[in-house]
Amino acid sequence: MIYCVEDERNIRELLIYTLETTGFEAKGFGSGAELMSALKEEIPELILLDIMLPGEDGYAILEKLKSNFKTKNIPVIMVTAREAEFDKVKGLEGGADDYITKPFGMMEFIARVKAVLRRSSCQKEDQGISCGDLHLDIGRHEVRYHDNKIELTRKEFELLQYLMENKGMVMTRDQLLCHVWGYDFDGETRTLDVHVRTLRQKLGEAGSMIETVRGVGYRIGE
Ligand code: CA
Repeated sequence: MIYCVEDERNIRELLIYTLETTGFEAKGFGSGAELMSALKEEIPELILLDIMLPGEDGYAILEKLKSNFKTKNIPVIMVTAREAEFDKVKGLEGGADDYITKPFGMMEFIARVKAVLRRSSCQKEDQGISCGDLHLDIGRHEVRYHDNKIELTRKEFELLQYLMENKGMVMTRDQLLCHVWGYDFDGETRTLDVHVRTLRQKLGEAGSMIETVRGVGYRIGE
């Protein structure tokens, strides 16, 4: 899904039409406010962002996107009629991934969209897994809720990772013990419950996402 923020209807429709005929799904918005409310429903793969908009301009919207934990990793291409070098620098420093100046050819436009999506899918591999506002970064061995870092022991981390990798599915006690402690684990199965308890405590508010399925095991859901 690609979101297009552009107040000029003709341009917006042309962008969406071009994206759709190339095989992308796209939705258009006339202002930052419309974009923000759509982001509550769905996180797109890419945002095309005009600079001159009614209400908040593209730079202000970009800043909001980049300062929010949920939206900061969405790649952004600034789309604008402004040509000044200054604007380009400002957009890129603000965290935009690319910049395209109107008028532009549709071939160039699609090529840039594809290039940005390609780069972001490479980055995604080391970004980790999310469950609501809970984010687990495997590469860095780090867990964050909203933007707060949560310190976990290695076992707690592995337990959370396994649950998050199987988000929404019930993991049986045996699966969890086997995966986190090794298949020949013959310690007390209470070990698992103790770990889940401390994990929930450390996660605080997010701890309630770990659900106990009585007699079976545990599940994490948003
Ligand atoms: Ca505009």
